[in-house]
Amino acid sequence: MTRIGHGFDAHRLVEGRRFILAGSVIPYERGPLGHSDGDVLAHALADALLGAAALGDLGSRFPDGDPRWKGADSMRLLEACAREVRENGYAISNVDVTVVVQEPRLAAHIDTMRRNVANVLGIALERVGLKAKTSDRMGYTGDGSGIAAYAVALIESV
Ligand code: MG
Repeated sequence: MTRIGHGFDAHRLVEGRRFILAGSVIPYERGPLGHSDGDVLAHALADALLGAAALGDLGSRFPDGDPRWKGADSMRLLEACAREVRENGYAISNVDVTVVVQEPRLAAHIDTMRRNVANVLGIALERVGLKAKTSDRMGYTGDGSGIAAYAVALIESV
């Protein structure tokens, strides 16, 4: 059976934090506020994968208030979610993510981020879609106050 899942995440962008996206550190004057490293792409994608398998969400596995996950590398959390999906009898067919942020421009980092995602999920590069968009200076993703990511994942029972 083929199943689809959707995920969303958003974080505030603040000074004094590294800008981390899909495990890549991108030079910028601010970064996502969060209990973990604030990697919105990893968080949205983890929820898409868990959602596809109807396994709940990232937040219930790695709660915000839990000191174990303070400063956590979210790509490791994504890896754990992908493993759980596999252990429940599914293979990951493909994933697709859209990141929405006005700045920094992400075009130069897309290839690296795609490779990071493919490696963590253990799937081929061509199974990973990744786009960066602005919201044309509208709303929290457009005025520099935040970053958002939307993800879908297709999984197949094996
Ligand atoms: Mg998050």
